[in-house]
Amino acid sequence: MGLLSAGEPMTWEEMKAWQDHVRHHGVKQFIRLYNRLKDEKGRVLKWGDEVEYIIVKLDHKEKKARLSLRADELLKQLAEPENAMMAEVAEKGSSDIELHSHWCPEYASYMVEGTPGIPYMGGMSYFNTVEHNMRLRRKELENLLQEDEIAVSLSTYPRLGCPDFTVPPFSPHPNSPDSFTKSLFWPNEATFLGHPRFSRLSANIRERRGEKVAINIPVFKDVNTPDPFVEDFSSLGDDGSSAAAAKPDHVYMDAMGFGMGLSCLQITFQADNICEARSLYDQLATLCPIMLALTAASPSHRGYLVDRDCRWDIIAASVDDRTPEERGLDPLKKNKFVIPKSRYDSIDSYLSKCAQKSPEFNDIKVIYDEAIYKELVDGGVDPLMAQHVAHLFIRDSVSMFRNKVHDDGEYEDEDIDHFENIQSTNWQTMRFKPPPPGASIGWRVEFRPCELQITDFENAAVACFVVLLTRAILSYKWNLLMPISLVDENMKRAQKRDAVLTQKFYWRKDIFTLCEEDAKPVIEELSIDEILNGIPGTEYQGLLALVREYLRGQDDVEADTSCTLSNYWQLLSGRASGKLETNAHWIRQFIRTHPDYKGDSVVPESAVYDLMVSINRIQAGELKEPRLFGRVERKSKTKDINRSYTADSGTKIG
Ligand code: GLU
Ligand code: MG
Repeated sequence: MGLLSAGEPMTWEEMKAWQDHVRHHGVKQFIRLYNRLKDEKGRVLKWGDEVEYIIVKLDHKEKKARLSLRADELLKQLAEPENAMMAEVAEKGSSDIELHSHWCPEYASYMVEGTPGIPYMGGMSYFNTVEHNMRLRRKELENLLQEDEIAVSLSTYPRLGCPDFTVPPFSPHPNSPDSFTKSLFWPNEATFLGHPRFSRLSANIRERRGEKVAINIPVFKDVNTPDPFVEDFSSLGDDGSSAAAAKPDHVYMDAMGFGMGLSCLQITFQADNICEARSLYDQLATLCPIMLALTAASPSHRGYLVDRDCRWDIIAASVDDRTPEERGLDPLKKNKFVIPKSRYDSIDSYLSKCAQKSPEFNDIKVIYDEAIYKELVDGGVDPLMAQHVAHLFIRDSVSMFRNKVHDDGEYEDEDIDHFENIQSTNWQTMRFKPPPPGASIGWRVEFRPCELQITDFENAAVACFVVLLTRAILSYKWNLLMPISLVDENMKRAQKRDAVLTQKFYWRKDIFTLCEEDAKPVIEELSIDEILNGIPGTEYQGLLALVREYLRGQDDVEADTSCTLSNYWQLLSGRASGKLETNAHWIRQFIRTHPDYKGDSVVPESAVYDLMVSINRIQAGELKEPRLFGRVERKSKTKDINRSYTADSGTKIG
């Protein structure tokens, strides 16, 4: 989830004096980098996915499924092949070790993040290796697990923060000076403590905000749910702040882990050049809410069913470090800006030439730092990019390392640490990523909205769809842009319960209209079914048909690849039409129809146990689940290709 610098992290108090220093040098670093690399082109398409797994320990006797806090231990073992490969490369310049995966820590101590060891390239055959690689990754992890531990790819563990949700068990100590969240529910030990960044970040966010974070998600009102639904926290050590922050009829959470302890599927692309990266950034931004709704997988939090299906707003609130002034609650005195969004939220502005041509699409007021903007423009950065960076830089750094700040601006020419400091704690739907220093990596964009699915098959389907769609968009110059305020509205709708079945989304139907044309966009409200599967009897064929058409135009699609992809499209088409259930719908129903569920929105421990066992069996192919997959053939012939390191393969792209 961000930059893991070596060294000792600073406290919020210590960091205060350094904020302007980091911003000042961060901007200088960006200007230098931009001018050095803005004309660079000819990078081949590379891409990679990121999957955040959780480790669950099953207690068959007690019928409990708790989160196993072994990430630190596991990561040390998981890193061995990569370490061995790197050692060989350092010695001989190359290595024969096939590297299937790259592993890194995530926020929680029950999570590990795995990416392909070497990125995928542009060729069509790579689409038939994605699922295989996801399986290998999962296998690598599974091989290290103890008896009764399972690796689960699930966006939200339903009983996060409930008593006894971890193995080993730990209690929160909200009133202890050592508690970095002050949470009534989240024990320190559930945060990954193998690197000091995560605990420090949690404390700094809370301290900057001036109080602990407050996450309120509407409870799902079932037949026996109390009305109003109000919780009493007095026995948990509440000093009154939780009772004041919790809203009636909402599930209340009070720690960063309730958000950053959730999992997603992210996809990073390397573009040919900066212009292409900017186009991708914009075009994919419009797709964020659509893919969020389609992959919805988070119907339950802190042991309750909620009336939302996605994790997005929860994470946004879990890292919301804005002060009351910045949230518009108090008049501005100490702070500079009223900021409408959390640092984890949707993007506020497009960046591409197309958006420059149609400035009316950038119809949200972008809050940015004028002085920084001016410095960027004076430094040669174009106004839209300057605004983007000056917008990221309205945030303070919430994570500084002593050894990094004391450089007095004397860093290497290519260093972008200060820029990355701010960039990597702006967690938005899309991330625009400049080339890192020293590596043979170009301009990249990261697509961040998708919820994680329970099987490799589904995750591969989602990743391949998004990647092929970008290929098609770039080749045919399709144009999905619409006023960005409508994308924001779509983000809200996407998270509603069963959004795929009940919601309509603003969508541009004339996607063939080129940017250069002066036509008014045809924007209508469509269902996800219509957006993906098309509208019968009209010219709008839907995104799946367009991707199929793009594939027909490629001459290097082998039969096996074609077969795998057609299974993926069947799955996505079924999910979009509602014939197949989203993960969220299926999980909600699983819980609601569980024999121990009492219709009161409370998720029983036994239901979580049965859910985890079922998910594990579904993923392994031992259990068929027609409601999720219908008749879609899940046995695709995905395979591997050589993944040994060569000089130009580079390592991780994400
Ligand atoms: N787990 C976070 C999410 O679900 C993302 C963290 C990251 O940036 O890697 O969105
Ligand atoms: Mg991550």
